[in-house]
Amino acid sequence: MNQRGKVALKKILYFFLERSLFWKVGFIIGVCILVCFSLVFYFYFYTKGLVNGTSASPSSSFMFERMLYFLSLLVLIFLIWGAIAFYYMVKRPLDRIKNVLDTLIYDPKCLQGEAYIKYSIKDEIGEVVEKVNQLVRNFREIETFRHIIENDESVEEIYQRLGEYLRNLSFSSFVIYEVSNSQNTMRPVYKSDEELEINSEKLFNADKCRAKRTGKVVTSLEAPHICRLYEYQDITHHYCLPIVAGNKVLGVVEIHLPITEETLTSKRLKEKLNLAHKFIEETSPVIESKRYAEALKEQTHKDPLTNLYNRRFLEGILDNLCAQILRRGTILGILMCDLDYFKSINDKYGHDVGDLVLKETARLLSENVRKSDLVVRFGGEEFLILLVDIKEGEAEKVAEKLRKIIETYEFKTPKGSIKRTISIGVSEFPVDSSAIWEAIKFADIALYKAKEEGRNKVVRFKPDFWTEEEY
Ligand code: GH3
Ligand code: MG
Ligand code: MG
Repeated sequence: MNQRGKVALKKILYFFLERSLFWKVGFIIGVCILVCFSLVFYFYFYTKGLVNGTSASPSSSFMFERMLYFLSLLVLIFLIWGAIAFYYMVKRPLDRIKNVLDTLIYDPKCLQGEAYIKYSIKDEIGEVVEKVNQLVRNFREIETFRHIIENDESVEEIYQRLGEYLRNLSFSSFVIYEVSNSQNTMRPVYKSDEELEINSEKLFNADKCRAKRTGKVVTSLEAPHICRLYEYQDITHHYCLPIVAGNKVLGVVEIHLPITEETLTSKRLKEKLNLAHKFIEETSPVIESKRYAEALKEQTHKDPLTNLYNRRFLEGILDNLCAQILRRGTILGILMCDLDYFKSINDKYGHDVGDLVLKETARLLSENVRKSDLVVRFGGEEFLILLVDIKEGEAEKVAEKLRKIIETYEFKTPKGSIKRTISIGVSEFPVDSSAIWEAIKFADIALYKAKEEGRNKVVRFKPDFWTEEEY
């Protein structure tokens, strides 16, 4: 057979195969019935001829036997045809579907390699196969996604990744919000477009957001104007999915959809929203545990009274920080600060007022250095400030500025205004010492000198302060 003939035959075959199962099975049964009836009629008239005829000649009885064999053979062929057709068209694809579904249900992690079912014919089974393949594809995507985000370091990274996945689902406009741990506020953590407008009312009062408040999907597709705070009323629809873990809403994903007839009817869009839902469901426990771990880390690294980093945090980051300073060839300014006669505040006004002054001092110090600098509560009323990437001699100037700020500041307390001064010892790493803990010790020595010289002073460390006999 030439190529064209083969193609034509294949076309005819596929024309038959791609009919609905109803027609295919109908055709097979129809052919069987037709052939059987024809044979029955044929034999009826044949045997009638034999009976009506003069006598059954040996040749006609031989013919009768042959016909009987022929009939049995034909029935057998039809049975085999039916069985093979049933096996390839129904049983085999159904078995494969069953296997894949079994794996999905009982052991989804084993869904490796080529789990997709190959079945190119587009009948009812073809449609079921297509759906199962889609299910496997979605499942795999979600599994991979979960695996990736579990290994992400921070929650911010997870938000970025969730944003990218939503883009891959071809959502072009959306915002991801994070609800604060206190549940009072929310902030946008991912925007598909930086220009997107956000209603600030809900940012300061998260409960104004209906999806956050109810923990349920809120969409204008079902109830127009359901959200009063949506910035794009009458321009786009919104579909807001809460990120829920347990009974706590961790965030909200606000998806914007065009106002068209297709948005309301599209099955594909429904599937995409469903998938987004699944992604978010997978993400929420990971976000929760990451946020919890981060909060815990913050707690162990922060002093609860002043909210400044503590000594433990300092120990954890110091090596890395110094390595960076050395690599960049810059200087780390070290200011060891200690409030003067602080004990007298406790003695005179009580511990609560003392705490208040400490908190306020911490705030003043933090607010008057750069964001990249580090303020650490080093001890009771001692603060260590690390000035990152400064020039030689600059640390002393910053210290002087801070000293003046404290000197002129009035601490407002329930027991009246209090004025206090601070003494600061200054050293520089690696100028004074290339060993960071030694450089910190030098700042402490300079602080001791400042106290000695009458307090409310900034003293820059000098090598002659450091004599083995003295310390
Ligand atoms: P100096 O000028 O020599 O530094 O005098 P001082 O009184 O500031 O120093 P001293 O070391 O004698 O006293 C420090 C006091 O700080 C003693 C302690 O009760 C108080 N203190 C330490 N931590 C806290 C705190 O968390 N809250 C309060 N209210 N006081 C604290
Ligand atoms: Mg003191
Ligand atoms: Mg002290």
